[in-house]
Amino acid sequence: MSRIRLLPDIVASQVAAGEVVERPPASVVKELIENSIDAGARKIEILIRRGGISLVRVVDDGCGMDRDDALLSLERHATSKIRSAADLAAIATLGFRGEALPSIASVSRFRLTTREPNAIAGTEIIVNGGKIDVVRDGGEAPGTQVEVRSLFYNLPARRKFLRSENTESRNIEHQLQLQAIGHPQIAFSFVRDTRLVFQLPPAASLHDRIRDLYGNELLERLLPVSGAGLDKIEISGLVGRAGLSRQTRAQQLVFVNGRAVESPVVTAALREGYHTALMKGQFPVTFLFLKLDPASVDVNVHPAKREVRFRDPTAVREAVVNSIRRALEGGRSDWQEKFHAPAAPPRPTIGTTAKIPEAPPRELPQLGGALGERYNVVAGVADPGRAAAKPDELPSRTRTQGDSSPRQFQIIGILNKLYVLMENADGLVLVDQHAAHERILFEELRRRMEEQGVPSQKLLIPQTFDLPPRDAEWVERNLSILQKMGIGIEGFGPNTFKIDSLPAFLQTSDPISFMQRVIDDLKSASDSSSALRLGEEMIAMTVCRHAVKANDPLRYLEVEKLIQDLLECDLPYCCPHGRPTMIQISLAELEKKFGRKV
Ligand SMILES: [Zn+2]
Repeated sequence: MSRIRLLPDIVASQVAAGEVVERPPASVVKELIENSIDAGARKIEILIRRGGISLVRVVDDGCGMDRDDALLSLERHATSKIRSAADLAAIATLGFRGEALPSIASVSRFRLTTREPNAIAGTEIIVNGGKIDVVRDGGEAPGTQVEVRSLFYNLPARRKFLRSENTESRNIEHQLQLQAIGHPQIAFSFVRDTRLVFQLPPAASLHDRIRDLYGNELLERLLPVSGAGLDKIEISGLVGRAGLSRQTRAQQLVFVNGRAVESPVVTAALREGYHTALMKGQFPVTFLFLKLDPASVDVNVHPAKREVRFRDPTAVREAVVNSIRRALEGGRSDWQEKFHAPAAPPRPTIGTTAKIPEAPPRELPQLGGALGERYNVVAGVADPGRAAAKPDELPSRTRTQGDSSPRQFQIIGILNKLYVLMENADGLVLVDQHAAHERILFEELRRRMEEQGVPSQKLLIPQTFDLPPRDAEWVERNLSILQKMGIGIEGFGPNTFKIDSLPAFLQTSDPISFMQRVIDDLKSASDSSSALRLGEEMIAMTVCRHAVKANDPLRYLEVEKLIQDLLECDLPYCCPHGRPTMIQISLAELEKKFGRKV
């Protein structure tokens, strides 16, 4: 009954040369899971020992295979999925690497058992280092179970490239997260050595799957994303709110037609979409799904590297950037809610609104020193005393009153001359007035730049300066955007330039060193930048210097206007450098800290 055959040598030699698999244990897991998914599994159980080096076991409840198919699956070119070049162009399924299973079997002690649901008996096949040793009846449950033991036992040279068990385990766990997010409807369980790492029930939606895998806390910081683009691109999923970031790209998950991919095009688009919403060098959290015509994406560039190539990368980029921008801006109303004063205004205490008309406009209490007096103000409720005194200082107030639902916030005071303290239904809201002012200025300048260019101020004496050729070439190329930014600059001979004006908002006595800084900063920032992006970079660079200094005491009206203006920004959540403008400390957190609740 048993058939003995040898897998082709070429497989082992390819694997030895490192062509087939990188991060080998994680690749093994990926291949086995993708086979299970292709087999229609509803439940997949994964067990690894010692980082997958000593054992990877994947058990599914899929359709299983009969004996011939099982043997065929272990032959190098036995792929039933790609029959022609036309099939290759329209790969929409996951498992296109027919050679994966024999590759794995050629470098391990390999055991496969499989049974079709209605078959009387199943099949067990044992392969050692590419040699099929046993083929016999096996009585397992319907589905397929694959065990891969002692990876690279027969290839010591390759074995020494394996990383530590911990690193390989982490790679595997990451791979499992990709699969679990990509297939919420499938139940997954993962056991590492003797520890159950996760057990995910089948989920009705991506939303539920993320909650089961990462918890509610992350889920609450995500926003739905959707969009469409040219080339029938559809975008869906969940992405992090502004400011939610990671040090690595580990949680920047991108799927194209259901397959986890890495794509420089999408990565760049995400960076652009999150521009000014994240700190430099940080990565967003995304669970982004792109669906497009299979013929317009080449998933077969380098299967092991899971890179894809798009027929129209510009269309993909635009669709991603736009959908991210929209998602971030769409999170605004929830965020604005946080500024609402508690429903029932607290009773005024000593030194409150009643006193305001006596000395308008007054400084807000500074809470940094002695006990600050409490100061309750409800914006949106006009104060006749003050309005009469300085009617021109009330633009935000008038605007608020025009709204159907006046935005009410309750400013308590200012801490350390920097943080505006406010109260809402959940507890305490702190606004960094410097970051807030930066954001407001940034958006205002950007708007002006897009519309008619930033107003500039003539220098008393125009100045000329020389640049090294490469810098000169950069300036030459970006002359028009620099001019739109309010910098009056023009060529003045080879590698020499003349400046005769600077942006009006800028306060600098040394235009040349300013230009040098602009060039240095922008050159590094603008690897892939559009003109607009370059302008944004420049504004972000300069507004920091111009924005309210941390210690500038603000008057009440100024603070109120600051908050109002912030709330009207497109991306109010953070300063243009990605630092948050507001944080909330909830009553629940306070209660915990005070030991009122455990
Ligand atoms: Zn900043």
